Order: sequence, then C-alpha cells, then structure tokens
Amino acid sequence: MYGLIPAPVSVEVSEGHCLIGCLPGFGYEKQFEPEVSVVASWLAQQLPKTIPEEYRQADIISINVYNDLVKGGTEAYKLFIRPTVIEIHVASAAGVVRAGATLAQLVSAHGCRLPCLSIEDQPRYSWRGFMLDTVRNFFSVDFILRQLDLAALHKLNMFHWHLSDDQAWRLDLEEMPELAAHGAQRLDRRFNVVKWKGGSYSAADVRRVVEFAASRHISVIPEIDVPGHSSALLASHPELWCRSAHDDRHFLPEDRYGIFDAVLCAGRDESLNLVGRVFSGLSGLFPGKYLHAGGDEVPKEQWLVCEHCRARMRDEGLQDKHGNFDPERLQAWFMEQVQVGINGLGRTMVGWDELVDGGCSRDVLIMAWRSTGHGAKAAELGYKVVMCPQNKACYLDHKHLDLEEEPGQLGICTVRDAYAFDPHPEGLSAAAAANILGGQANLWTELVYFGKQAEYMLYPRLSAIAEALWSPKAVRDFASFASRLELHGRFLDRLQVNRYRGPLE
Ligand SMILES: [Zn+2]
Repeated sequence: MYGLIPAPVSVEVSEGHCLIGCLPGFGYEKQFEPEVSVVASWLAQQLPKTIPEEYRQADIISINVYNDLVKGGTEAYKLFIRPTVIEIHVASAAGVVRAGATLAQLVSAHGCRLPCLSIEDQPRYSWRGFMLDTVRNFFSVDFILRQLDLAALHKLNMFHWHLSDDQAWRLDLEEMPELAAHGAQRLDRRFNVVKWKGGSYSAADVRRVVEFAASRHISVIPEIDVPGHSSALLASHPELWCRSAHDDRHFLPEDRYGIFDAVLCAGRDESLNLVGRVFSGLSGLFPGKYLHAGGDEVPKEQWLVCEHCRARMRDEGLQDKHGNFDPERLQAWFMEQVQVGINGLGRTMVGWDELVDGGCSRDVLIMAWRSTGHGAKAAELGYKVVMCPQNKACYLDHKHLDLEEEPGQLGICTVRDAYAFDPHPEGLSAAAAANILGGQANLWTELVYFGKQAEYMLYPRLSAIAEALWSPKAVRDFASFASRLELHGRFLDRLQVNRYRGPLE
C-alpha cells in the first residue's frame, strides 16, 4: 500500500505511470480553494525541487464532486491516478483534504513518477482525535499549527486542546483578564534561581489555531476543567474556594503534579457564575459543536465541611439513602448547571467519564479515560462516548518501551499496543456500539518539556492510532502497518518530525 497510513479501504494498482511536475496544476471548483491550497502546500513539501521538463505541469489534478460518495460521509473520496491525469472525487470539501493527505504520502513514496491506481476510501469513525496538554508544558501557536498539519496528514479530524488545570490557566479571555494574569505563569523551582515560567493564548492566537484547523477540516474542542484541577483558576479567584470566615488561603498555579484539593466551592453561586462566563467567552472563540468541561478527579472532603456546600446539599436534597450529605451528588448537580449553561450557548458539553458515576444528562458526550470498561458502561447507559482509555494505549505520555532510557511516565505503550487500540470492546450490545463515536490519543505533558519531545511521544504511535480510527477492521494488520511504516517514516522525516525509531513491541 505504498506506505499509506492510515490504510485506505481499497487500493487497486493498474499498469503505467503518471509523471507530475514540481508545480502540478489543479482543476477545481472555486469553493474548494482553501482545501486545494492546503493540498498544494503538502505536495510542495514532498516533491523534488527539480524535475525533467517532460513531466506534466498543466491542470493535472482534477477535483470533482460526485453525489454517490455521500453515503460514505463528508470525508469520503476516490483517487484515480491515470497516465495523464489525477482525478479526485469527493462528496464535500473535507474529502479534498483527506484525498490530498493520501496523495502527499504517495508523492513522498514515489516522487514525480506515480504508479497508476485507484483508491476508494472513507473513515470508520467520525471522531478521530488527539489531545495536547498545553498546561503542564506551554507550547507555541506555531508548534500547535504544525501538530494540526501532521494530524491532518493522518486524516485526524478532532483536536482536543487542554487549556486549564492545576498547573496553569492558558486562555487569555478579554472579558476576564485576571484569569491568565494570575494563572498563566508558575514558579519553576527546578533550579537554584526560582523564576516564573509559562504563557497564555490570546483571542488572536485562538483564531489562528481554529482557522488553521478548519482549513484541514479539524474541529477544535477546548477544555476548561472544573470543578477540580482548579489551582490556577483559584489563583485569580481565591474567594471561590470553600473557605470559612477565618480562612485566608491563597493559591498559586501548582508546580507539583497530581490531584489537589483546589476545588471550586460548589455551594456558592459565584462559582457557577464564573464558570458560566468562562464558557460564554469560549463559545465566542471556538465555533465547534463541543465545549469540554472536565469533571475528573475531584477531591470532595472540603465540600462536606463547607457551610455553603452543606447548604446547597440541604437545599437541593443531595443526600444518600441514609440521609447523609452526598458530595458525589453535589458534583453531579454542579456539572448539570454547567451543562445547562453550555446547552444554552447552543453547544454540547464534553466531560470525562467520572461524570457517569454521579449521573448526568444523556446529552453529555463522555470521554472514557479510566478504561474501556468505563466507556462501555457509559455507552450501555445511552451516552455518546469517545474512547481514550489509559489502559488501552491512548495515553501517549507512557513510555514506548520498559527501559530507563525511554522518556515517559505511568505506563508502557508500544507502537504495537497503540496499533491494537479498538474503540469497540468485545461484548457490547448493538445499541451501545452505535453510541461509540470513535477515539483519540491524549498527550499529557508533565514530563514533556519541549516540542521535539512531544513529537517523539506522538509519532509513530499517533500514526498507529490514526489507522485504528480511520481504516476498516478488515484491512488492519500489524505486520502490514510495520512494513508500511518504513516508507511512512521517510515521509515523516521529510517533515522533520522527531519520531521514535526503536522497536515496535
Ligand atoms: Zn464549598
């Protein structure tokens, strides 16, 4: 399959070759101009700079809409390489970019002399994502754009942007400047000279990311994590901590990693007001359907002693069957208020799978991170689910191999493990199976200090997961993937990706 990753649904090779020039022309309808410009940039990266004169340069790549492709979804395409022309058939603009990613990989493998062939292709899943934690380590906008470009070349279509946590608040909201002013920098104590370190993304930065992603048909899902993981949020709003009259605790963005008791007071209306304003600000910056509100890893001890939280549990009847105050139900109540606010903005809330424990509206999209079992349970209960389980190779902060020399934390995930990921665990009911939209890989960055390191953690494991999410089960085969990875590795090398090159298992 010529190093194509993800593997297409079908490839048929025929006799002959197509010779393309270093500046192949495109014939297309005006509406496809943004996508054609992306594809042209991809081909330019892969084509040699000098090519014999007899190679063709006039309108050799023709792009046309064919309605019969609609049943394969908006991203379906057909690609025909014939001796004198390359034809791309699409149902919509998204198909142009997906076909372009295939063509760029073929050009990487064959240069200007492409084998004649026909490819039919469409995705297995509608959610094919990756998450970048820009909190534990701050990444430049240029680095994020580069990762989006690489993701699109692997036909991924969802970018989950982790923007807040204990260690930083990365979003500079114009209406609420205090959040980034107090939350975007943290003390770096690793050296004798302690200094502030960090950064935040302005509205203009966000627009650049969103537009760049949109031109590659990638949706951006911003995450603001509440009510836990909130040290950096409490740095600017310490009054939202469960404080008693004598408590003057103040907060700084954490310079340690783990789970902390810096949790928003669920009893105060001010907490909900602030979260509501934050998501309202987000909705103005991010046009996509989904806003991610976190909801994971919330220590609840102080809710049991806080007079405001106790009053809330009393007033809302949030007790267990013995009549005791139930902080699990308080969290469920809090997240429901957040969800109603997000729905009021015309968006769908995404949350981590802990939300299922306390119960929440079936309108919430659940990201299953603790295990595939948690995702399966949510899907059986009727939630829409995206699988990104830490126990099934979706956590790319894990080491590639069980070696001291390998960077990473908390587990081992070989390339083979990543390849074996399947969002559909065995034994699901048909109804639950239909609730699983797809999956994604998550890169947490507690131990990732540089972009080059991030790429080492991502590739080629993200290539493997991209295939798990795009290619039909019938064409997936690890031996085939491993052999295609040789050519694909050269493709990544041309793009100067700092990829992992060690054993795959
Ligand atoms: Zn409280």
